[in-house]
Amino acid sequence: MLFPRPLIDGYRAFLTGRLRTEQDRYRELAESGQSPEIMVIGCCDSRCSPEVIFNARPGELFVVRNIANLVPPFAPDAQAHGVSAALEFGVMALKVKNIVVLGHAQCGGVRAFAEDSEPLTPGDFIGNWMKLMAPAAEKVGPRGTRSASDYLTLLEQANVALSLENLMTFPRLRARVERGDLELHGAYFGVATGQLSVRDPATGKFTQVAADDYGRLFPRPRF
Ligand SMILES: [Zn+2]
Repeated sequence: MLFPRPLIDGYRAFLTGRLRTEQDRYRELAESGQSPEIMVIGCCDSRCSPEVIFNARPGELFVVRNIANLVPPFAPDAQAHGVSAALEFGVMALKVKNIVVLGHAQCGGVRAFAEDSEPLTPGDFIGNWMKLMAPAAEKVGPRGTRSASDYLTLLEQANVALSLENLMTFPRLRARVERGDLELHGAYFGVATGQLSVRDPATGKFTQVAADDYGRLFPRPRF
């Protein structure tokens, strides 16, 4: 069995690039332990790596990723809850100061939900997982006359809002938010454009950040 070639090549690039410049930091983090102040809940999508989008250094982001960046509501049963376990560690042990739910455009999980896609296996793990976003879809309402892409964008953004709501169902997390020790944020990454938008908690609207830099670096084509 051969280890994938792109990974070996990528690792070689890491050795001559990041590791060379960050070696002291890695050593320091190994000794002192990690203390990231920001936790990101993102999608598994290979185009939306939070460390890449936010140009994060080692030790800066505590990341949990799953299909469609969902946070299941607090459920203190004896089942295995991956996101809850990550939240427990991030909030109670690392005491992160910010949690960012990072949604994105062209999310396959959200599309699978919207199109009620055929299960990929008899277990239909994606279908069962994506049922979590039903309350977000209810808020958006039926597609009506909207274009498919506008409708999916609304669903993707409502899904971020739902995950933020579900975070607040975790009592100890909520207590930290209410004490002002923890802030929750929603963000949305446009895969095709590279634009990042942040959710205004008062209005629920997403607004592009660093729009000035973006406009300067990527001017709109003139027709
Ligand atoms: Zn996705």
